[in-house]
Amino acid sequence: MFKLFSREPIHDPLAPPVPGAVNEVKTTTCYMCACRCGIRVHLRDGELRYIDGNPNHPINRGVICAKGASGIMKQVSPARLTRPLLRKPGSERGAGEFEPISWERAFRILEDRLAKIRATDPKKFALFTGRDQMQALTSLFARNFGTPNYAAHGGFCSVNMAAGMIYTIGGSFWEFGGPDLERARLFVMIGTAEDHHSNPLKIAISKFKRGGGRFISINPVRTGYSAIADEWIPIKPGTDGALFMALLHELIASDRIDHAFLKRFTNAPQLVLLETGCDREGMFAHDPDPAKGAPGDGRHPHNKLVFDKGDGTIKAAYPEGIADGCDPALEGHYTLADGRRVAPSFQLLRERVAPCTPEWAAAITGIPAERIVKLAHELGTAAFEQAFELPIPWADAWGKPHPTTQARPVAFHAMRGLAAHSNGFQTVRALAVLMSVLGTIDAPGGFRHKAPYPRHIVPNFRAFNSPDMIKPNTPLNAAPLGFPANPEELAIGDDGTPMRIDHAFSWEHPLSAHGLMHTVITNATRGDPYRLDTLMIFMANMAWNSTMNTLAVREMLNAKGDDGEFRIPFLVVCDAFQSEMVAFADLVLPDTTYLERHDVMSMLDRPISEFEGPADSVRVPVVPPLGECKPFQEVLVELASRLKLPAFTTAGGERKFKDYPDFIVNYEAQPGIGFLMGWRGADGSEHLRGAPNPKQWEMYAKNDCVFSLHLPETMHYMRNWNREYLDFAKDKGWRQKNDVVQLTLYSDTLQAFRLAAKGQTAGRQPPEHLRERIATYFDPLPFWYAPLEDAATDTEAYPLNAITQRPMAMYHSWDSQNAWLRQIHSHNYLHVNPLTAQKAGIADGGWCWVESAWGRVRCMLRYSEAVEPGTVWTWNAIGKADGAWQLAPGADEARKGFLLNHLINDELPHGAGGTISNSDPVTGQAGWYDVRVRLVPAEPEPLEASSPQIAATPAPPGVRGATSPGTGDSAGRRRP
Ligand code: SF4
Repeated sequence: MFKLFSREPIHDPLAPPVPGAVNEVKTTTCYMCACRCGIRVHLRDGELRYIDGNPNHPINRGVICAKGASGIMKQVSPARLTRPLLRKPGSERGAGEFEPISWERAFRILEDRLAKIRATDPKKFALFTGRDQMQALTSLFARNFGTPNYAAHGGFCSVNMAAGMIYTIGGSFWEFGGPDLERARLFVMIGTAEDHHSNPLKIAISKFKRGGGRFISINPVRTGYSAIADEWIPIKPGTDGALFMALLHELIASDRIDHAFLKRFTNAPQLVLLETGCDREGMFAHDPDPAKGAPGDGRHPHNKLVFDKGDGTIKAAYPEGIADGCDPALEGHYTLADGRRVAPSFQLLRERVAPCTPEWAAAITGIPAERIVKLAHELGTAAFEQAFELPIPWADAWGKPHPTTQARPVAFHAMRGLAAHSNGFQTVRALAVLMSVLGTIDAPGGFRHKAPYPRHIVPNFRAFNSPDMIKPNTPLNAAPLGFPANPEELAIGDDGTPMRIDHAFSWEHPLSAHGLMHTVITNATRGDPYRLDTLMIFMANMAWNSTMNTLAVREMLNAKGDDGEFRIPFLVVCDAFQSEMVAFADLVLPDTTYLERHDVMSMLDRPISEFEGPADSVRVPVVPPLGECKPFQEVLVELASRLKLPAFTTAGGERKFKDYPDFIVNYEAQPGIGFLMGWRGADGSEHLRGAPNPKQWEMYAKNDCVFSLHLPETMHYMRNWNREYLDFAKDKGWRQKNDVVQLTLYSDTLQAFRLAAKGQTAGRQPPEHLRERIATYFDPLPFWYAPLEDAATDTEAYPLNAITQRPMAMYHSWDSQNAWLRQIHSHNYLHVNPLTAQKAGIADGGWCWVESAWGRVRCMLRYSEAVEPGTVWTWNAIGKADGAWQLAPGADEARKGFLLNHLINDELPHGAGGTISNSDPVTGQAGWYDVRVRLVPAEPEPLEASSPQIAATPAPPGVRGATSPGTGDSAGRRRP
């Protein structure tokens, strides 16, 4: 028995083995968060003993965090679901009244229902998933089913970061790129939660600081990484874009920009047409050869024009504009031979940032103007005065050899703090442009891509774009998700109505590359644009922390029409734990934990590639599934086989794959390209491309569950333009073409949408009520605007910004059932600067109301100097609904914890009496961090508890409950 305050170690890894016990160590991949560290799972007689980091793993090199080491407590969690469940007839959703059923019955229910939907109107089935790592499979299932209604969590997570970067530099932070801290001298982290990219970033920052690098953190809150920064620069939420614009202003005004880089590797010198009112306004002038395509279609290479300062002529951008001796202008105004006025796009950027002075930005961001000037100077000094060259030769896409590789040792890292605002797309664009003018893209010491990135701008993934593509018993002939390049690629009907239930890729949010999961329940309840039949949710807590306006959404889940039928007729929830969402399901499918199943981190999805080359990894089961739990992957392969979806069925109509592991080994996206890159070919001797290998799983298991390939160093840098790399990437199926990826400082793709909104182009145009919105926010140059919430809220009455972040010790809602991690966070506080709290008359530790224009919550407040005075913040998803996650009634998570989401509306007013999703108008990214609040002292209460409180639901049948015998005590020790 574990004794509190005992000196006895909780676990002694050096203790002699128990006589006769069978000790084993198995390697797999952690999933206590999304960082994908390698772990070693130590077992005795088949029972989990402890988990540590795998020293051989490229991601974490043996490091493990509190969450990763606590995986054992997830395994023995009382909240584990163990049996398929069917809601009891006549019971309300949310009441949590279920009867256990067999898997066969669950499959038959699904098969019958889905087969009917597929044979009639496939879009009435929707599949939305949370923070899973198997989107290549889930999207394949949806596409084969024939429904466009599919997405994962990206729309409410960080699609602004992905889209803003990918549409500008062809890659993005985290899985697909990041800061090269081994070679950087200055590191600027902005808007990053304290656990983001957790172990890998901690390792890199530690080495960076030991090597003498300077680390500046810009964030409203100083915790986590910010706490160990050399300097913390507090900033008001939602204003980062203004800071970037002012930094651009300073760098351009002081001419601390990488001229050579901008001229050769970006569209900065390319000439933009200045004539107004025509269908080419603001588009690039181009070679009129029709075979070259028209700029702005976003899909075809096209030859634009530059002005050569050397001989004063206008030339084609390629090859004359990059020929030795040509000096393309970055500034000025010119006239084409046909009389049309043009200017290099960089001139337009220069004009755009001219009024964005440090003083202008200081008034918005709260950062003093002098500090902004100094920061610009520091960026320029790191990029240019501390620059160096690596003796690595490479050749660019136009055949020019470069004897060395130019380093620009200033690196940035950014995440949801920038992205989760309704101005996030243009803010991220501004950051990407800032990095570009410093020449730090895929350069040593700067931002570096990870395979399969960089992608073409715009990536060659077209989404479904026409109602005609939805046909009974027919797969979609395009993926449900993609990257629209022009209005013709939107998923809209002839009259402009959205074709997806989440309104993704519609005029409301045209570039919603990750969908809008956060709108699904509201839209489906309204039947906007149509009624669904079946909504399947995997691993997403939509009845709690994954949704805004939480109480209303919970009501929607249970809403019925005049006919007495649920507005969402059938709701399927697959989860491993008794989350708040489970109580609302009609059918519950018990998932496995990450220690009980096969998984892949695939090049077809989100691999674990490093800067130096591609890498993918797997999970393998280290313990058997609990009870009747079944991996969701298996459920999908089984369902797809029963429904005879084409990718899962032979030409003769037979089932193609025995199970999920078999599917992973034998499915080929194109000949020789499968989910896993390593040990391909019949005997496992081929990599990246090769025939399926029946022993592939075994080979991964024998090799720490990782395959990684270090490319020759001539392919380590400048990959947007690196001929050797571009050819290699095409050959290996990572890119459809080997064409160059020029950085898009000026986006003619965005301008194409704007011209449609202004009625200046033929073809698709937005409905009247969205024209101004598109024309405003689809600006081809980055700009800062106040978050849209500000226009819907009296900002004097609600003067504070309220934000959340994930703690280092818990990942979203995943860990409140974890006995060890609950000891770190069992409830949350609102953290407030003492000046702000005292002004509101609230004592440290006191109860207060936090009020927004949309709702109020009562919570406990703590003073903190580590937050700027205009911001209040709390940990996300620590507060829980009473009784969920098998927490005892009245547990601290429910009684003292609280959820800030109650204060955030899922929609904002739009037009005359209408509403629109509270999201970025370009990408549909949920505007989590835009809400404005005020603080009010809470009146004395007989029972001090947070508000709102949710009535507890009964435990579902089969939930594990108390830790079962044989799994050890809370320290993981074997019982005597
Ligand atoms: S950072 Fe921690 S929780 Fe996340 S994958 Fe690594 S060890 Fe696991």
